[in-house]
Amino acid sequence: MIIALSGGIGGAKLARGLYRVLPADELTVVVNTGDDFEHLGLHIAPDLDTLVYTLAGCNNPDTGWGRAGETWTFMRVLAGIGGESWFNLGDGDLALHVERTRRLRAGERLATFTEDVRRRFGVHARVLPMSDDPVRTLVATDAGVLAFQHYFVRERCVPRVTGFEFAGAGAARPCAEVLAALRDRSLEAVVLCPSNPFVSIDPILSVPGIRAALAGCAAPVVAVSPIVGGDAVKGPTAKMMRELGLPVRAAAVAARYADFIDGFVLDERDAEEAGGIAMPVSISDTLMRSDVDRERLAGAVLGFVRTLGATR
Ligand code: GDP
Repeated sequence: MIIALSGGIGGAKLARGLYRVLPADELTVVVNTGDDFEHLGLHIAPDLDTLVYTLAGCNNPDTGWGRAGETWTFMRVLAGIGGESWFNLGDGDLALHVERTRRLRAGERLATFTEDVRRRFGVHARVLPMSDDPVRTLVATDAGVLAFQHYFVRERCVPRVTGFEFAGAGAARPCAEVLAALRDRSLEAVVLCPSNPFVSIDPILSVPGIRAALAGCAAPVVAVSPIVGGDAVKGPTAKMMRELGLPVRAAAVAARYADFIDGFVLDERDAEEAGGIAMPVSISDTLMRSDVDRERLAGAVLGFVRTLGATR
């Protein structure tokens, strides 16, 4: 069993690579829910949905989020009647939010609902939220403290970031299946996908017990760099690093995880940084444009993990 920790788009690419190279039922993806929010009365879980859509192969490859071949009648009508239209919800995507909201209100756990949905999408990997409890990422900026989607979508990441808060994290319980998977004897490795360290991986680590479980788990833990060629491939990771006064370097990401990871996968474009990373490093082409790239990187990560087997 391999456990992957993931945010949305960047993380889902490697999760899909792992999914395609591993035997069926050998992958568990633990997903950030700090981006979840209540919108139009619905529980929206962007990263969980991106994972399910990407593993099922029905994601929209152009946007990176949402479903392929989507229609937009709902949004058009909503905008026409003066509704809130800054967050796009496709018609097919909407069905998932409506059903999730109904079942959560009826008392179902987010984990149980997500597991049911991924099975119905034909996905043979487990997709688990970090917690069933609400944890909400807040972005402190020069324009005030913003709820994550307000910062990310409505304000298009323009405000200058000064810090982050994970509201509710103190009281949140980790998803029981996540802790059990981290303790399972069949666990071969934990892979931190190339996701935003501040708003995708840190919220997962903020859930009490998860960081300690990673530090204490018997299998090696490795991270794949979200920085390629001294920049982010996409999204606000590099902008956030600059605004927080961090060097935009893969080594700075490795340092953030140094207390619980055993190895770091560095992009070949940043190979000169290897000497500054105080742990075993594997150098690969980590840019994933196609399924061939995703599978190749997944294979390289699994090969690297095997070389670390005896380190814990
Ligand atoms: P999320 O954080 O996983 O929700 O998704 P994002 O799309 O915001 O991506 C976060 C990070 O993934 C960014 O720092 C990107 O640079 C990184 N990323 C996206 N695509 C790739 C890729 O193909 N290879 C690598 N190494 N990183 C990527």
